Amino acid sequence: MKDEKADGVAKSDIDQYRVKPGQKVALAGIDSRQKIPPGKKAIKERQQGLLQRLSDLQYLLFAEHRRRLLVVLQAMDTGGKDSTIRRVFGPINPQGVNVTGFKVPTADELAHDFLWRIHRRVPGAGDIGVFNRSHYEDVLVVRVHQIVPENVWRKRYRQIVDFERYLVQTGTVIRKFYLHISRDEQRKRLEARLQNPRKRWKMSRADLAERQYWDHYIAAYEEALVRTSTRWAPWYVVPADRKWVRDYIVASVLVSTLEDLDLQLPLAPKLDDITLN
Ligand code: ATP
Ligand code: MG
Repeated sequence: MKDEKADGVAKSDIDQYRVKPGQKVALAGIDSRQKIPPGKKAIKERQQGLLQRLSDLQYLLFAEHRRRLLVVLQAMDTGGKDSTIRRVFGPINPQGVNVTGFKVPTADELAHDFLWRIHRRVPGAGDIGVFNRSHYEDVLVVRVHQIVPENVWRKRYRQIVDFERYLVQTGTVIRKFYLHISRDEQRKRLEARLQNPRKRWKMSRADLAERQYWDHYIAAYEEALVRTSTRWAPWYVVPADRKWVRDYIVASVLVSTLEDLDLQLPLAPKLDDITLN
């Protein structure tokens, strides 16, 4: 097959996870426990090569110093944002990557428009920026908990689409991932955290309480996905109950995206006439 890449999944395979513009998404109908053929062992081996390829492409992105890559990660609590960042971006030269976690906005952030704190963290030329949560919180948690009235958050879909179009037109490449876990998987992960003294600190009463809003969050995600997955800034719904599947899809999309940029090393200066002493 022409678009088959040695280490990644074929482009046609990745495309099944992409939310097509305007396409309705029913998350309940997407199996979060999906596997990828030929299976865990082979995929984990391929993943090694894929991550090496990602590192090589990042080197070119950095050297070219022109375009930027913005990766948005969203998920329910325990969805695996942190571990995806560790496992997919861990092998990359840290000089070229910056990760931003977006927490409850500070007073200063709240005094500005909701995209203000986001725009400041968009990567610079040659860099990869990873958002652990993002401007999408402003149509997710904010909607679920009615932090602002509906006529305010509803306008944000359009504002986000416009903002992302602007970023793309000015040299930023955007890929967005929703790590899709089941409610059952979340329970297992929360229980594991409760039992593991090394992970207990991550938990709060609020995390457990948030679980009761599961259906509200699903509805908010579904609307965000359909309204903001565009040709220029697509969403991918990544089956994420299995970590090896999740990591492989995220890495495959990023490798394929960077390959499409046709990154080139800058022209080297002519230095043949210099003799080193
Ligand atoms: P971990 O998964 O390790 O717990 P986290 O991303 O959940 O990391 P926390 O500090 O636990 O980090 O949570 C951040 C909280 O900030 C989340 O509950 C999130 O919904 C909330 N948050 C982020 N952006 C906004 C926003 N714009 N308005 C309100 N709350 C927000
Ligand atoms: Mg948390």
